[in-house]
Parts: sequence; structure tokens; C-alpha cells
Amino acid sequence: MINPATGETVADMALAQPGDVDAAVASARAALRDWAGATPAERSAVLAKLAKLADEATDVLIAEEVSQTGKPVRLAREFDVPGSVDNIDFFAGAARHLEGKASAEYSGDHTSSIRREAVGVVATITPWNYPLQMAVWKVLPALAAGCSVVIKPAELTPLTTLTLARLATEAGLPDGVFNVVTGAGGDVGAALAGHPGVDMVTFTGSTAVGRRVMLAAAEHGHRTQLELGGKAPFVVFDDADLDAAIQGAVAGALINTGQDCTAATRAIVARDLYDDFVAGVGEVFSKVAVGDPHDPETDLGPLITAAHRNKVAGMVERAPGEGGRVVTGGVAIDGPGSFYRPTLIADVAESSEVYREEIFGPVLVARSFTDDDDAIRQANDTQYGLAASAWTRDVYRAQRASREIHAGCVWINDHIPIISEMPHGGFGASGFGKDMSQYSLEEYLSIKHVMSDITGAADKDWHRTVFTKR
Ligand code: NAD
Repeated sequence: MINPATGETVADMALAQPGDVDAAVASARAALRDWAGATPAERSAVLAKLAKLADEATDVLIAEEVSQTGKPVRLAREFDVPGSVDNIDFFAGAARHLEGKASAEYSGDHTSSIRREAVGVVATITPWNYPLQMAVWKVLPALAAGCSVVIKPAELTPLTTLTLARLATEAGLPDGVFNVVTGAGGDVGAALAGHPGVDMVTFTGSTAVGRRVMLAAAEHGHRTQLELGGKAPFVVFDDADLDAAIQGAVAGALINTGQDCTAATRAIVARDLYDDFVAGVGEVFSKVAVGDPHDPETDLGPLITAAHRNKVAGMVERAPGEGGRVVTGGVAIDGPGSFYRPTLIADVAESSEVYREEIFGPVLVARSFTDDDDAIRQANDTQYGLAASAWTRDVYRAQRASREIHAGCVWINDHIPIISEMPHGGFGASGFGKDMSQYSLEEYLSIKHVMSDITGAADKDWHRTVFTKR
């Protein structure tokens, strides 16, 4: 494992082989019955202890997260780690809220009730951009629901997932309930996604790989949940607070060095505000502190790998050929790490690569719009549908944007905040199903209808629809 800021080795990691995946799935299967059969209060107690231990391990988790991802330490300290701890804590509580809707005599002759049961063994595959949060978002609702888990973290960033598993053991989670297999996507990930012994596959990562994962799971008819790529629109109406929109665009575009699936990537701005918006964002971008992610003064760390920086740089270099104007940035910084200056590209064509494809770097592209219909049309002119924001002081515009923009989350006058109680998940090429909140707990539960005869009669009324006694 390499520190993306320095190129130095952070840790040596054993790579699982497909045989290890079989062993991990078998271990999860063996542990399932007892964990699913534990009372909600028992499961909740273990998860609450895990939240406490994770909170106490904050400094370790921050150090690991920063050294494996290169994310700025301020972000890890104020967002990744406390957000993860809060999420664990939320699911400790949610574990005790597995309710059915009603129990009643709908037929007159039976009592019907609903049972919510753990789906079973859950295979989880996660990306490198928020390793701890992505693991928590998948593993915790599964554990709260009574499932057992085999997780494969991204090969670039396994450290905090392994620490989470160690803390879970310390919290009293029984052996075999939470299994980690490290290794590459093409072999270990593929073996896990297509494993006949799991009951569900849940994935966060790119749209292309997510579709492969879904195909592999479909071979066995397994339930899937996919959290995939994004290309979030950031729509600024002409009555917006321009200063708030500029600051929001900078924070929304540069969070996690732009390696965020919900990042603001397409600024779609009312023509009257467009020039001032571009000038304002360009000015703040040019002042952003890029450098050592361990330094609390640093705003922007490196991209995850040199190959990823080359991909980002290539897309920026091709933009002028498609009509885009690089206002600021477009510059790689020398050094062992793969640093890249915040980049603003204005006047991009709707057909251009930088406008249509996920870049996953500190790059914001901008276009203007003529009227509200045009703004909503441009916002929705994408295959993705993960997140979006609308900036306006007009309540009717805000309501229209929240109703008509096709995305799993629409922020009004903000972009990025998430909260444990509310769901995260996309539409279209951004996937389906929810992480976080009570909604994600539902992903890991099967609903069973139990219908009990209350007449005690051998000769039931409805039998005559099938046979008459002779
Ligand atoms: P990726 O798709 O390359 O990899 C994700 C995971 O899949 C990794 O663990 C990888 O090893 C594994 N993998 C690769 N090939 C596989 C295969 N054939 N079978 C099974 N597993 C395989 O994504 P990434 O580069 O790690 O992460 C960036 C992507 O993740 C971006 O597209 C981003 O938008 C997306 N993302 C989405 C969300 C969300 O909530 N929607 C959150 C974070 C990241």
C-alpha cells in the first residue's frame, strides 16, 4: 500500500486468493444463524460498543485514512471519522426498530403478520475514496439487520476497513459475522460478487464495474444494491446569493480533492450571473492550498494514483478542443504525489467529454442557461442521477428544482452535507437502493408474511373453489 502524497509504502498487505473468498463466505454462513437469532437489543449493544471504540480510535482511523487516501487531515477529522462513528451509533439504535406495519385479520379467517428477517450473507465491495465511510455505510445496516458480511475493500485502501473489523471483534461481535478479504477487484472482487454462497451483493464504485458486479450476482439471482458514479449539476438561478453560490461551488467541487461521487461537477448558471460566478470561483480556486495532506492548513491533497491523475489531466487537456475554456488550473504539480491544481473550465459544450463523463478530480465545468426550463433540462441532461443542488431565494423555484431534477438527493442552497438519518443513493446510471438511514436497513431485510388460520376448521370455506366433497 502506497501513500499517494509521498509515494512511500504505508503497509504491506496480504492479498486474498479466490480460495480465501470461499473460506470467508463459509465463515459468514456458519455465523449467520446465531447472529440473526440474537435479540435486537443484543445486536444493538455490540454495535453501540463498536461506536464507542471507533470514537476512541479516532486518531488511529484518521492517520490510516489520510496515509492511504491522501485526503486532507481536516476532512478526515471533521467529516470521515466522526461521520462514520455517528453512522455506527445510528445503526446501533436502528437495530431495535425492525417493525412490521400491522398484524390483523385481513381475511377474517386468518391473522396476518409481518416478520422482517435478515437477508443472510452479504457480500460487500467498496471503493477507495471514502474507505471508512463506505465500509460503515454497508456493513453497519447489514449487521443491524442480523446479516453476516464479507467485505472486499478497494485494494488501494484496505487499512481502515481492517481496523473497523478489529474493533468490531473487540466490541464483542461473534467470530465469522464480519469478514474482510483484501485484494484486487478482477479476481477477489469478481469471485465475491459471483459467489453462489452469498445471498446479496452490495457495491459502491464506478458504474462500469457496478454493472459487471450486477451481472455476476444475476447468475445466481442474488439481490443487489449499487451505489455508482455521479455528475452532479449545480444550478444557480438569477436570484441566488452569488457569494454563497461561489463558496458552495468551491467546497462542493473540491471536497476530497474532487474524488466524491456527489461532488459539484457541472455548474449551470443563469446568464446574468455567469461571468461573475466564473470569475469568483476562478479566484478562490487559484488560492486553494494544495500540498501535504497531514498539514491542517492543506485544502487539497493528491489524487489517488498517477494513473488517475493522468486520466483527469487527459480530460482537461481535451476540453479546449471541444470548446471549453480553462479559466484556472489544468496543471499537475511536480513531486512524488499526484497533485493537480483546482481546475475551472468555462463555456463547455453540452456534448463535450468533460461535461458528460465523471472526471473524479478537482475539476468544475460551467455553462450558462437562458431560463428556468433550460436550467432544469440541462441539469437532467445526464445518464447519472446521484445528487444535485439548486441555488435560489425563490421558494417556488426551489420547489420546482427539488421536484423536477432527477437525482437521489437535491440540496437547496447547499451542496454535499449528509446525515445518518437520511438516505443516500442514486437514480439511473448512479445505481439503486439506499445507504444510510432506516431506508438502508430495509435493503438487508426480507419481508415475510405469516398467515395463521384462526377458525380451526378442517373444512375451510375457500376449499370449495378447488374441490367439492362427493
Ligand atoms: P471501481 O469501480 O474501480 O472499484 C470499486 C471496487 O470494485 C473496488 O474494491 C475494486 O477492487 C472492485 N472491483 C473492480 N473490478 C471488479 C470486478 N470485476 N468485480 C468485482 N469487484 C471489482 O471504483 P473506484 O475507482 O474504487 O471508486 C470510484 C468510483 O466510485 C467513482 O465512480 C465514484 O463515483 C464511485 N462512488 C460512488 C459512491 C456512491 O455512493 N454512489 C460513493 C463513492 C464512490
